Amino acid sequence: MFDTVRILSLDFPLTPRRELLLTAHRLIGSKRAARIYTPNAEMAYRAARDPAFSALLHRADLLLPDGVGISMAAARQGVSLSRVSGIDFAEALLRTAPRPYRVFLLGAKPGIGAAAARELSRRYARAEIVGVQDGYFPCERSHTVAAAIAGMRPDLLFVCLGSPRQEQWIDTHAIPCLAMGLGGSLDVWAGEVKRAPAVMQRAGLEWLWRTARDPRRLARLPALAGFAWRALTEKVEDFSVNCEKTEP
Ligand code: UDP
Repeated sequence: MFDTVRILSLDFPLTPRRELLLTAHRLIGSKRAARIYTPNAEMAYRAARDPAFSALLHRADLLLPDGVGISMAAARQGVSLSRVSGIDFAEALLRTAPRPYRVFLLGAKPGIGAAAARELSRRYARAEIVGVQDGYFPCERSHTVAAAIAGMRPDLLFVCLGSPRQEQWIDTHAIPCLAMGLGGSLDVWAGEVKRAPAVMQRAGLEWLWRTARDPRRLARLPALAGFAWRALTEKVEDFSVNCEKTEP
């Protein structure tokens, strides 16, 4: 059980990263369909307005606060919640794997998964990439894709279809392994997209870097503004610190 802090409708564990990693390794060991999602402000704002999406996120085994907005909203409650970026957490899992992990990469444009697979295999001796599938298959093929992935018996499934599709996909198919929603991570591992310099990441400005490099992301700014408005104007009682939630 972890203590949690509630940001809009979502509960984030107030747990050191090391503990979160141990929990994730335990989830992999359990061989059941487990899920880790990585909400940022945009996802939290969507969850606050969409009960179905909120319910789906509540079915996660862990929510990682992947955005400076979430940390700022927690700070407003006097709670320190450091950002845990999904891509860093996924890499930390591979780095600390107690045995070779079978990993399936789902998402991104054709060719990106294979390039990401090469990079992950090069960097992490215990990452055994058992398959890749691009993220541009028609909806009707979803069950076939899921059956093919399940057939590879992965320990870890990185789903990079963008939110909310990736969380909906993970929830619908419940493949027996630890699935993580990881947005644009495959593009980064494939070398197609550059992450913000470390100094910008530390300053909580990775979103600004990504928006400057891909102006289509400007379309996301209204959701960020909506989140900021709610996070700053709602009564603090609408948030809460909960000391008996989240069973690992
Ligand atoms: N994507 C996909 N199928 C789709 C739409 C998007 O596989 O139908 C991929 C896209 O190519 C990219 C990822 O999903 O690799 C989404 O990246 P984005 O930067 O939007 O995610 P974020 O990191 O912001 O959550």
